[in-house]
Amino acid sequence: MKIRSLFIAAGVAAVLVGVSAIAAMWMATAAEDAAEAQQQRAQQVARDVAGLVGVTYVFQRERDELSTSEWKRWLANIVRDLEGASSLGESAAELELLNDAAARLPVLFERALQTAAVPVSDFERRRRDQAFELLLGDTQAMADAAFRWSRNAGDARSLAEDVHERITMASIACFSLLLAVLAVVGVRRVLRPLARLTEVTEALERGEQVPLFGSTAQDELGTLKRRFDAMTIALRRRTDELREAEQRMRKITDNIPVVVSHFDRNVRADFGNLAVERVLRRPVSELMGLSFREIRGDAMWEIAKPHIDAVLQGQPQEFESFVTRDGETLYFVQRYVPDVDADGEVQGFYSVSFDITERRQAEALLAESEKRLRDIADNLPVMISYIDKDQRLLFLNETFTKWTGLDHRSTVGKTVAEAIPAPLYEQRREALARALAGERVEFDLESTSLGVNRFLHNLYLPDIAPDGSIRGLYALSTDVTEHRRLERQLAELARTDALTGLPNRYSFDEQLTAIIKRAQRAQTLTALLFLDIDRFKLINDSHGHGVGDEVLRDFARRLLALVRGTDFVGRLAGDEFVVVLEALGAPVEAEIVAGKIIDAINRPFATSAGELSVGTSIGIAIHPGDELDGEALLGRADQALYLAKDAGRNQYRLHAP
Ligand code: GH3
Ligand code: MG
Repeated sequence: MKIRSLFIAAGVAAVLVGVSAIAAMWMATAAEDAAEAQQQRAQQVARDVAGLVGVTYVFQRERDELSTSEWKRWLANIVRDLEGASSLGESAAELELLNDAAARLPVLFERALQTAAVPVSDFERRRRDQAFELLLGDTQAMADAAFRWSRNAGDARSLAEDVHERITMASIACFSLLLAVLAVVGVRRVLRPLARLTEVTEALERGEQVPLFGSTAQDELGTLKRRFDAMTIALRRRTDELREAEQRMRKITDNIPVVVSHFDRNVRADFGNLAVERVLRRPVSELMGLSFREIRGDAMWEIAKPHIDAVLQGQPQEFESFVTRDGETLYFVQRYVPDVDADGEVQGFYSVSFDITERRQAEALLAESEKRLRDIADNLPVMISYIDKDQRLLFLNETFTKWTGLDHRSTVGKTVAEAIPAPLYEQRREALARALAGERVEFDLESTSLGVNRFLHNLYLPDIAPDGSIRGLYALSTDVTEHRRLERQLAELARTDALTGLPNRYSFDEQLTAIIKRAQRAQTLTALLFLDIDRFKLINDSHGHGVGDEVLRDFARRLLALVRGTDFVGRLAGDEFVVVLEALGAPVEAEIVAGKIIDAINRPFATSAGELSVGTSIGIAIHPGDELDGEALLGRADQALYLAKDAGRNQYRLHAP
């Protein structure tokens, strides 16, 4: 039976019992009241009848008007009282008797009244006595009847009172019984199951597994239990899903190289992934419930506190933090994300930490290596710079600053054109463009900076990105001034005859080509004089090589003294010399010079071995315009020299044109 029906039935029963009790009590009260009224009326009638009896005696004795009227008044009272009386069971006979007597009495009274007041005869006396006897007899009978009526009415009242009392007791008993039944049913059917439900909900709240009720009852509690079972099953499923989701999340968070944790509003830890254990070297379970400060210490707390305050205000935070363990410091990028619930309230925050120790170490290594490179670059005697594709100087080394006066701080960011004087930029413009087009460019230039002139060997190396685009270029400039000087010196040496200081064969070949070119251009006459000292071997053999050298040196001096500054004088080898005379008016001018040379040479040579007389033979070849090259000209001069030697030496011969 449903509890609702039970309560309705109980209510109906209560109403029925109540209505019955009220009706019964009302009726009992009414009966009691009626009995009481009847008793009072009966008592009144009894009193009146008693009064009538007394008045009747008085009337018998006095027979006056007062007693007559008194008798009638008493009787009228009795008649009035009897009029309202209703016949009630046992008293019906008495009432009938009273009414009958009341109806008869006036007749008997009249008869008594008509009898002689003072009888004069026995007959009258007997008549009178008989009349009074009848009157008194009926009146007495009335008194008896009234008494019985009154007694009966009293009994009826007692009975009514008794009934009333019993009905009241019965009503109370019925209500008590009903209440007791209701209480028992309420406790067994409602309160106990509700208490059990409460226990189960509390167990659920504590997260305990609870058995299902499995109720088949068709009442409301049965329905409630089945709904509760459905809820428990749904809750188990949801709990399982949540557990799975949590395990999934834990698996994910445990397998990422990121430290993930969660703190509640009171900054106490309530979640941490496996990375937390790795970093803090403590089991996560040990950390749960501990405050941030207890876990991370005072120093970190001081650093993190402003960020924690801010994230608890709902503002995400990012900053760098560190953990020191076993003397090793780990660096992290720390992100705090507010944990906001559906109502927009901040319930705590997630802490996500990325380990950047390796990056830091790499940065430190990079900085170190950069410093090393910079130290090297700064101390290299090479001007090094990096120029981007827009020709902006992004780097320059100490040597650059030393040589140009441009320092790193004020120059970086400027374009090359802005940084260096226009003429210097012009010298480099083309090479820059080529290098920025991807070409490795090497070139030399002479440049003056801070009043110092330098020969620079420049190397522009394009900086090519992996995708092939040109990012910029490395410019390396080496000071080759000294190198140049040495080179020049070497070149000089290579072209000079060490003994006489005259240009040597190598120089002569170079010069002869230029001389012939000039002659061809100007269409002028050029004479090549080929000289060979006569019998020089003899000098060497007779006086030694040193004396031979002295002769060679003096020979050279004499030649130089004879020709114009612009004329070429050189020593080809051993005792062979050449003189080139340019822009001659006529071939004969060459012959004149040759004659002068022979004269000059024929003058004694002062040597360490004393004065020596030296002679020379000269072969002359004339370059008449554009016909001959240097080799051919020299060949002709050589032929002419042979002729001079053959002719007896110490003379010149002109190659026949
Ligand atoms: P000729 O009249 O035919 O020229 O006779 P010559 O003795 O001069 O013969 P030649 O020109 O062939 O000899 C040149 C000599 O010059 C040979 C060599 O010993 C000598 N000689 C070459 N170079 C040097 C040098 O640097 N110093 C000295 N002292 N002698 C040299
Ligand atoms: Mg010779």
